[in-house]
Amino acid sequence: MKRYNGSEIFRNRCVVIATMHKKETVIEPLLKQEFGLKAITPKNFDTDQFGTFSGEIERVRNPLETVRAKALAALLQTNENLAIASEGSFGPHPESPFIIGNEELVILIDTKNGFEIIGRHFTEKTNFNHQKIENLNDLKEFSERIGFPEHGIILKISNEKNSESIYKDFKSFDLLHNQVVKLLDEEKKVQAETDMRAFQNPTRMEAIKQATKNLVNIINTNCPKCNAPGYSIIEAIRGLRCELCNLPTKGLKGYIFSCQKCNFSCERKKEDVNFQNATFCDYCNP
Ligand SMILES: [Zn+2]
Ligand SMILES: [Zn+2]
Repeated sequence: MKRYNGSEIFRNRCVVIATMHKKETVIEPLLKQEFGLKAITPKNFDTDQFGTFSGEIERVRNPLETVRAKALAALLQTNENLAIASEGSFGPHPESPFIIGNEELVILIDTKNGFEIIGRHFTEKTNFNHQKIENLNDLKEFSERIGFPEHGIILKISNEKNSESIYKDFKSFDLLHNQVVKLLDEEKKVQAETDMRAFQNPTRMEAIKQATKNLVNIINTNCPKCNAPGYSIIEAIRGLRCELCNLPTKGLKGYIFSCQKCNFSCERKKEDVNFQNATFCDYCNP
């Protein structure tokens, strides 16, 4: 069986960061510090072809397919063999649909050695929002709520025949204000949305940084058997027992980790969690 030397397989290589929204500002320092990677960003790399948050181009694939496609497109364009891409989504938590937030995926693809390693971060901290703007009070209220101008705002006008006009990249409140006055004067129906592109949204940029840290941790987790990097969770195990009645609940009790090289897998108990709170038990608190 082939033995690996953990993350050394990435040491001092060149990595392509597939972004046109300045994500390299948070991704590159972490990769450089941990693995000595040298980052390049492809010139004129158009990530909008994979869909935009503002809806000019629809996202047709799920976030994992999208982030993989971005990384592979960057490799194709640059003729390199190591790439990183990220993709965000906004909405319910993948496992707890009542929690709304931002999930960021960061993927590392190594076509030379056949690795695909994925980091994730979910946070409820997001200013993802939209609002109908009927007057200037609405605009003032919305822009304060989402943290303009540090965070960008996009204006959308619905035209006839289901088409939309989009206005973005306002540098100041005056410019935003003037555009809204003009549109309201023309009796247009104005909708304001948070700009979710990373360079227009420091809250999201922080989430991408956290997802990159998660990726670094996973890269640094080696398979106990073959020592390949990226030994990671492939499944969650439920059935944590209730603290009162001792019956299994839907609570998480551990994870199954697996190696993508030798297929070795093992179960690891969730740290510091022994029993489920009775509030979440179907028997004690139906
Ligand atoms: Zn292994
Ligand atoms: Zn119980």
